[in-house]
Amino acid sequence: MRAATVCAMAISIPLMAAAAWAQNNATLSERLGTPLAQRANPGPCPGNPEALGVARVVEIDTTGGPGFGFEHFKAYDFLRDGEVVLTFDDGPWPGNTPAVLRALAEQCTKAIFFPIGKHAIWHPEILKQVAAAGHTIGSHTWSHADLSKLTPDQAKEEIEKGVSAVRVALGQPESSFFRFPALRHSPELLTYLSARNIGTFSTDMDSFDFKMRKSEQIIESVVSKLKKHGKGIVLMHDFQHPTSLALPELLVQLKNNGYKIVQVKAKEPVQTLAEYDQQLEKELGGGTGNSRPILSVVRTISE
Ligand SMILES: [Zn+2]
Repeated sequence: MRAATVCAMAISIPLMAAAAWAQNNATLSERLGTPLAQRANPGPCPGNPEALGVARVVEIDTTGGPGFGFEHFKAYDFLRDGEVVLTFDDGPWPGNTPAVLRALAEQCTKAIFFPIGKHAIWHPEILKQVAAAGHTIGSHTWSHADLSKLTPDQAKEEIEKGVSAVRVALGQPESSFFRFPALRHSPELLTYLSARNIGTFSTDMDSFDFKMRKSEQIIESVVSKLKKHGKGIVLMHDFQHPTSLALPELLVQLKNNGYKIVQVKAKEPVQTLAEYDQQLEKELGGGTGNSRPILSVVRTISE
């Protein structure tokens, strides 16, 4: 048994080296595998007419914890026809998240990321790349637990450790946006987030990319749902490898079909709770208003 373990370890090193080589060269092979005519011309961002780009930037005031995404929250219908908000959950993850970032950068466009706290602590350098690229970062709990099955105290800890993990990983707090794992919320937890002035994102259309193994299925899922709805907040996962492969072509199809990307920012960074910041920093060894009118919650700050 022990000999087998040693043998497995010995062969795992060259395998890891090969995987790293493949990862580093993924961009080149992806480029060669896609017809040049379908790709955005390399050019400065913003202002590249060949790229999907960002059509509008909105700022959200999360005072009172407004909710977004018509699957659960219908109060603030801030998207115009043809407008899309791209959102990515469950990262940051080696290989997949950087590939998603490359695809977004190539199209000069922006998204919201909802990282899992543990993943943020494991891969802070990848989350820093997300932040450096100018994307919006919310949070998505500490360990992706189903909060509807936890006690209120356990659920609060999951939320707050997730919020603090992003701060500890980045060295600064990010946006006051939150998404429930599997979109399973409860009235009590929405009341809690409301008191914390954290906005909740559900979705207008779930791609269900985590159930798909082929990029083509993911592209078809998103494009067909957008055709049906005409606009919306799209839920995908930068954690999923097929999604990272699908994204370059998906973005081309969004551009070709005339969709406009809306970048969403929070007016204020989230206020983390000191006890959870301290708890996480210790673990790391020190390393690191629903009824308000829509215009007072979401306003266009650039277009
Ligand atoms: Zn998730």
